[in-house]
Amino acid sequence: MADYDLAIIGGGLNGVSIARDAAGRGLRVILLEQGDLAAGASSASPRLIHGDLAGLERRHFLRVRTALAERDIWLRIAPHLVRPMRFAIPAHSEERPDWQLRSWLLLYDRLASRSGLPASATVDVTHHPIGNALKRPFGTAFEYSDCVVDDSRLVVLTAVDAAARGAVIRTGARCTRAERGKEWRLVTIDRGFRQVITARAIVNASGAWTSSVAETVLRVPPPKVAAEQMDQIVVRRLFDSDNIYVFQNSDGRLIFASPYERDFTLIGTASHAFKGDPAIVAMAAGDVAYLCDAANRYFRERIETVDVVRTLSGANMVRNAASGRNGAMTLDHGRGRAPLLTVFGGDVTTSRLRAEQAVSKLTPFYPMSPRWTATAPLPGGDFAWDRFDNEVEEVRERWRFLGEEEARRLVAAYGSNVKAILGDAKERSELGPAFGSELTGAEVRYLMQREWARFPDDVLWRRTKLGLTMLPEDREALAAFMAAAV
Ligand SMILES: Cc1cc2nc3c(=O)[nH]c(=O)nc-3n(C[C@H](O)[C@H](O)[C@H](O)COP(=O)(O)OP(=O)(O)OC[C@H]3O[C@@H](n4cnc5c(N)ncnc54)[C@H](O)[C@@H]3O)c2cc1C
Repeated sequence: MADYDLAIIGGGLNGVSIARDAAGRGLRVILLEQGDLAAGASSASPRLIHGDLAGLERRHFLRVRTALAERDIWLRIAPHLVRPMRFAIPAHSEERPDWQLRSWLLLYDRLASRSGLPASATVDVTHHPIGNALKRPFGTAFEYSDCVVDDSRLVVLTAVDAAARGAVIRTGARCTRAERGKEWRLVTIDRGFRQVITARAIVNASGAWTSSVAETVLRVPPPKVAAEQMDQIVVRRLFDSDNIYVFQNSDGRLIFASPYERDFTLIGTASHAFKGDPAIVAMAAGDVAYLCDAANRYFRERIETVDVVRTLSGANMVRNAASGRNGAMTLDHGRGRAPLLTVFGGDVTTSRLRAEQAVSKLTPFYPMSPRWTATAPLPGGDFAWDRFDNEVEEVRERWRFLGEEEARRLVAAYGSNVKAILGDAKERSELGPAFGSELTGAEVRYLMQREWARFPDDVLWRRTKLGLTMLPEDREALAAFMAAAV
């Protein structure tokens, strides 16, 4: 008998979502990730959980409705990671006419009718906080509801849930070869050691590596795909309101500017064809300047390229360059050829559904229980999304040494599992050494023991975003702490 029913190559959002779905349906699953979870495109997404308003312009009504239904599911199953936000589109006489935007938003509201989020509205920005940060005296803006998510934590908590349901998650484990027969025989380099495992089926969910994994690891013809790169920049906070601005740039692209980790603003997204090694996806100087120029067209506070504190770039495969970020899945099998499922691209919002559909494709090969992920909360997500503030309050009452913002960060990251980090601590010093003003030894230990963090970057960029504010000396202390804790 094969060691596993399913071996998944790739620990991005697609891979972990399939691992969670399959493990919950009773399959014996192993996931192999060559680096850290979410180290690829999945930690550089625009962080939107949305119906995609722009889809209405392209007349993708069914797709928008499906994504809006998924948005509601995320609010229910990940109320800590997913936050409802008001999006604001300042009206601009040279761009899409007001009547057109208004009619899209009415349709958007109708398609999202059962969400419980506030409907769209037209606001007079001269008397509204939305207008404070804007450069020109815009008369009106259109407001509507959508959500944002902490993308890399979504990946990590999905993996935590998959593991809780029996999946084996191996980070630092690169699949180097897979021989195909009635079952697959995989060779992995797992933290330096060569290992061989067998599996009844393989999922290639290696994102931008999809073609190279197909050709060099699985030795099958690569799928017909195009590689796309998305880019975002992080700058100091440009506005105080809690809105996400959507600007209609002069070239027709939509540019998002959203609050990011309290003191910063995230501006994106520009996507374009990608060529090169997916392990080094860097943002070109011209693309940084493009996003700065776009922001300067609208915001009072000017930014230059030297103000960019971090760039976020990711690459993934899309079916073809014209299909935008549409992903695809294909199943290949035959007599004496164990199944190979290839899944790539697609947006964050529909990742749960995509995984459900992918695993369902394998039902002819295994007995498995029915679909289940639409109603099962992710770890720590066992409260209603509109009780987030109450959760923060309860945490502050129990652990009185926590400040408001710190409690918010912890609840947003861990939900009700925050108690597993804070335990019975009565004061901060009981949580071990401090790395900067917020990160404690207790949190780092938790991330190492329960969430596969191995290196400082795993903690500072993918499990938290505290790398944005951490001083070099605190980072060094963190590195020493983690090395000693292994
Ligand atoms: C241009 C573009 C625009 C996008 N825009 C949006 C958007 O507007 N909204 C939205 O929601 N989403 C968007 N996305 C989608 C989103 O960011 C990702 O596509 C999504 O997170 C799924 O990623 P993934 O799991 O396929 O790939 P990744 O996150 O890249 O994961 C693949 C993983 O496979 C691992 N791997 C590779 N080879 C091996 C091997 N041999 N052994 C072990 N591991 C291996 C890599 O290390 C990597 O971690 C966009 C994507 C693209 C490409």
